[in-house]
Amino acid sequence: MSLIDLHCHSTRSDGLLAPAEVVRHAAARGVKVLALTDHDETGGLAEARAAAQECGVTLVNGVEISVTRNNQTLHVLGLGIDPEHAGLAQGLAGIRASRRARAERMAVALEKAGIRGSLEGAYAHASNPDMVGRTHFARFLVASGVVKDVRSVFKKYLVSGKPGYVSHQWAGLADAIGWIIAAGGMAVLAHPGRYKMNAKQMRLLLREFKGLGGTGIEVVSGSHTVEHVAIFARYARELDLRASGGSDYHGPGESYMDLGGFAALPPGCTPLWHDWDVMRAVL
Ligand code: AMP
Ligand code: MN
Ligand code: MN
Ligand code: MN
Repeated sequence: MSLIDLHCHSTRSDGLLAPAEVVRHAAARGVKVLALTDHDETGGLAEARAAAQECGVTLVNGVEISVTRNNQTLHVLGLGIDPEHAGLAQGLAGIRASRRARAERMAVALEKAGIRGSLEGAYAHASNPDMVGRTHFARFLVASGVVKDVRSVFKKYLVSGKPGYVSHQWAGLADAIGWIIAAGGMAVLAHPGRYKMNAKQMRLLLREFKGLGGTGIEVVSGSHTVEHVAIFARYARELDLRASGGSDYHGPGESYMDLGGFAALPPGCTPLWHDWDVMRAVL
C-alpha cells in the first residue's frame, strides 16, 4: 500500500465514483495524500476538497491533460495547480469543447460498423456532458449487450485501427506544460509505459518534456508492469526527472489497481514530492 496516490478519476471525467466518493474511498484505504486528476477537467476538485477536509485526507489539485505529439496521444498530469488560473482554465475548456465534435465523429464511425445510437448512448453514461470520451462509449456498448466488458470494447472498437477509433488533435505538449506551470503546478508525464516508442524515441520525448519545464514521470502506475517500473525508474535517474506514483483508479470493477494499491517507489528515485511541505506533515 502507498500512502500517496497522485492519479485517479471521478465522474467529472470517466471515473465511476463522484469526487467525494473517491476521496472517502481513499481514506478508507488508508491513503493520506490524494490527487484527483480528471481528464481535461478540474470541476470535481471543490467537492473533493470538502470531502478531504472531513476525512483527514490531504488533497492535491490535479488534472490529466490530453496532448497530441507527432500524431500520438500523450497524457500529462498537472499536480498542485490552481484550477482558477485563467490560462489553464481556458486551455482545458478548449480541449473539452473539441470532445463533442470528436464524439460525433466516433458515433458516425460506429454507425458504419453497425452500431446505432452511440452518441446519445455515450452521453447517457457521461455525468459531465462537457467531458465525453471513449470510456463512455465503451460503457454504452457494454450496457447495450454488444460487448461483454469495457476492456474488450476498447480492443474491438476503440483503439487505433478499429472501426470506432477516430484520430483527434489534442493540446500541444508545450501548451499543456505551459498552462500547468503558469497555474503553479508540476507537469508529470503519465504512464509512459503505455506509449508505443523505442528507447531512442522515449529519450527524445523525455528530454523534450524536461526542456519544456516538465518535472517528473510516473514510474509507478496502475497500467505499468514490474518491468515498466524498473525501466522508468532508470530513465528518471538518467534524465534527472522526479518520480511519481498513481493508481489511475477509475472505479470499482474497471481498474487494474485500487487507490493506493502500489508499493513504494524503487530506490534511487527522487520522489516528485520530496520537497512538498504537505508531505512532511503527513508522512
Ligand atoms: P479518451 O480521452 O476519450 O480517448 O479516453 C481515454 C480513456 O480511455 C483512458 O483514460 C482510459 O480510461 C480509457 N482507456 C484507454 N485505453 C483503454 C483500454 N485499452 N482499456 C480500457 N480503458 C482504456
Ligand atoms: Mn480515463
Ligand atoms: Mn491516462
Ligand atoms: Mn488517468
